[in-house]
Amino acid sequence: MTAKILDGKALSRQLRAELAAQVAALRAGGIVPGLGVLLVGDNPASRAYVTAKEKACGELGMHSSEVRLPASASRGEILRVVSEFNRDPRVHGILVQLPLPDGSMEQEVLETVDPAKDVDGFHPVNVGRAVLGLPAFLPCTPHGILQMLRRAGIPVAGAHAVVIGRSHIVGRPLANLLSQKGEAGNATVTLCHTATRDLAQHTRHADIVIAAAGRPNTVRADMIREGAVVVDVGMNRVADSSAPRGYRLVGDVAFDEVREKASWITPVPGGVGPMTITMLLFNTVAAARGGPAGSL
Ligand code: NAD
Repeated sequence: MTAKILDGKALSRQLRAELAAQVAALRAGGIVPGLGVLLVGDNPASRAYVTAKEKACGELGMHSSEVRLPASASRGEILRVVSEFNRDPRVHGILVQLPLPDGSMEQEVLETVDPAKDVDGFHPVNVGRAVLGLPAFLPCTPHGILQMLRRAGIPVAGAHAVVIGRSHIVGRPLANLLSQKGEAGNATVTLCHTATRDLAQHTRHADIVIAAAGRPNTVRADMIREGAVVVDVGMNRVADSSAPRGYRLVGDVAFDEVREKASWITPVPGGVGPMTITMLLFNTVAAARGGPAGSL
């Protein structure tokens, strides 16, 4: 079996066209959905993500305002920018690009974001509401993955889903959402991590494998069963002297061998990544319309 491609780029185009219509309607009523972006330091990957997100906002007719602070910025300076975004009526959603140079500040900064503008879905209020199945801004990567599965008509209810990785931004919320009762969930979920004894023993029984480990080749062909759906969240830079930048992006899945066994697979790049940005736009438009659009 050769897997069909879960094309995040194509699906993003479709979703962004739907969002553009909502933005146009809001603008006609005098509201321009706005994203406030805070970038601290000059991590090249963070810069690239921020640029991509701002470009996507512009393409949809949304407004974005960026504040850049040096890596040496104090806690007070960072919190002040977030508070200004909280008060600014032109800013409906706030994006604090992570990681911050000083990781120890991250939680306090995220908790300073007004939950009503927390379009990344990282504030404990939104995390808690999402866990309870209440309307909440859902974190963009897990939300994007659920959208991909749903729009491709891949059955999740009753499926055994194995999630590899337990981070607060991907693995853990994804496992939670997949297991919730409701249209987009109802899966039986196994959450694997670095202390999992035999990863392959779990993945081999999965209908859906979602890899968010941040390590190339975490999922090999002999670890999945014939016909499984494989979603690759990983974005790893590996040195490649033939590539223009000296590196190329690979996921966590050994794509060439796994695609011969899976029924569906996401490519890297062009899979989960574009969906993550699209769901940030989705949440920002929802914030401009008055609040989270509810779970899927
Ligand atoms: P993280 O480093 O915070 O978490 C990785 C998790 O994987 C940890 O919980 C760890 O326990 C687990 N893990 C690592 N190696 C493992 C192994 N061999 N077996 C089982 N579990 C293992 O990373 P993260 O922020 O969740 O991101 C994961 C990957 O996804 C990274 O490559 C990141 O760049 C990528 N990412 C992509 C997007 C996107 O939009 N495509 C968004 C967020 C993260």
